[in-house]
Amino acid sequence: MTGHSSSCAEIAEQFPRLRAPELADLCSELQELRERTRSFARQELIPRALELDRRAGEEPGYFDWDVVRAGARAGMLRFLVPAPAGGSGGLAMHACIMMEELCAACAGIGLIFGAHGLGITPLLLGGAAHWDGVLAQLVASEASERPLLMALAITEPEAGTDVEDPDLLARGRITSHARRVPGGYRLSGTKRFISNGSVARWISVVMPTDPMRPAETETCFLVDTRSEGFAVSRAEHKMGQRACPAAELSFDEVFVPDELLVGREGDGATETLIVLACSRPPVGAIGTGIARGAYERLRAWLHEDDVGARLLERQHVQLALAQMEEEIHLAHQAYMDAAMEIDLWALGPTMRHPAARLLAGLPPSFRRRSRVRRKLLSGTARAQTVALLHRTTDDRRLSRAVGLSSLAKARGGDVAVRVTSAALQIAGLRAGPLRAELEKLWRDAKLVQIYEGTNQLNRVEVFRTLSNEEEMRCLPPRESIEPARMNGARA
Ligand SMILES: Cc1cc2nc3c(=O)[nH]c(=O)nc-3n(C[C@H](O)[C@H](O)[C@H](O)COP(=O)(O)OP(=O)(O)OC[C@H]3O[C@@H](n4cnc5c(N)ncnc54)[C@H](O)[C@@H]3O)c2cc1C
Repeated sequence: MTGHSSSCAEIAEQFPRLRAPELADLCSELQELRERTRSFARQELIPRALELDRRAGEEPGYFDWDVVRAGARAGMLRFLVPAPAGGSGGLAMHACIMMEELCAACAGIGLIFGAHGLGITPLLLGGAAHWDGVLAQLVASEASERPLLMALAITEPEAGTDVEDPDLLARGRITSHARRVPGGYRLSGTKRFISNGSVARWISVVMPTDPMRPAETETCFLVDTRSEGFAVSRAEHKMGQRACPAAELSFDEVFVPDELLVGREGDGATETLIVLACSRPPVGAIGTGIARGAYERLRAWLHEDDVGARLLERQHVQLALAQMEEEIHLAHQAYMDAAMEIDLWALGPTMRHPAARLLAGLPPSFRRRSRVRRKLLSGTARAQTVALLHRTTDDRRLSRAVGLSSLAKARGGDVAVRVTSAALQIAGLRAGPLRAELEKLWRDAKLVQIYEGTNQLNRVEVFRTLSNEEEMRCLPPRESIEPARMNGARA
């Protein structure tokens, strides 16, 4: 196993001002998570990876609920759910550590858990509104036969890149539409390429209330996939990461009650920007994990097989291995930089604000009283949550977080493709069963360059951050921070 870890020393070295005792807690929490995820991945993912890939290749949409149940038992579904809702309360760093470990074993199965986390992320911006609703339901379902999964639906048939960037959105060819009706909204339209879309019980869906003005009116809704008018219209044939189905979804006047609005009407473009800033470092970690998976398998073969051992004596192979190590190390570093920026400075302060802690300290039985719940779901509470975000972060920090996240995502995708290609080239036809594993990893790698915004779009975001005169390689701000659990508002 290689040394791509997030050690206490590594974090402290990058951020010399973080000497608080909580740093040790955070590091041991991350290390424990890494060990737990690695052992889960070895036991449950590696033995299934090739067979699931084959099965889902023959039968698009095929899904293995067994692995989801195993993941639920190992805590892989609750990692982003805030602590007051019964979850583990992680944010970007936790998600990254998990995704690298899962995807080093199987990126297809890893993406099931990643897409679930992606579906949860918009709810984290809604303060306490969803703690006692959908989020508590997700946690409660973990012990059941069918643990509840989530997904996020942004992409449309005529708009992929355009819906992921607030500036491009204004010109996007959006065809979906959320219409205001008494007591809620009616959603119509089509969403495409939605990971987990055919198996999720709840989907965070972004649609405009006025398709002619998407930038101003995009809004996020929580859709129960058992609602009338919702249908899975197609299961996609996937090139890689096949264990996680991608689906086309159709919405025909699907009713969403007011209480399942995520955030406020019209805030969808900003929410998408923040959600993608949080989810791109974990996608960089997916790429890093795939690259590490190929590199570790190749090294094991070179050391254990006679043909491999002869190859290992050649200098061009040694240089290729050193270059892979370098690429993986830097991809890991890039996603950790971005995740720390988000957790410690861009969004963490909102989650750790005294007002958020106060809410988190209220007993769930009190929060669930109908009068209190009505208040938590009210327009006033939603406006207060947004105001808190504005008070605790600023455009500079968000811009740097967006730039670093995009950099980490693009780097992770490119490194995955380069390392898997190089590994395949070295092993060639001589590697026996390893060849099938490397070929799958190479197919898995390509998708990382596409989803969560193509690498081209992400590089546009990096340039935008630079144009805002943001220093991307910099030390954290001076103010002291408390790097405790990010999304649990731990009191
Ligand atoms: C396996 C997989 C899983 C996915 N999962 C999800 C999911 O769970 N939820 C979801 O909502 N979506 C999901 N997607 C959709 C994904 O986010 C989009 O495919 C992606 O945003 C690109 O959109 P597009 O395919 O429409 O390409 P297009 O937007 O049509 O782009 C085509 C090409 O043009 C380039 N391009 C477009 N605009 C620009 C620009 N302004 N500047 C520079 N280059 C540009 C792109 O980089 C790309 O190379 C998934 C996609 C895949 C492949």
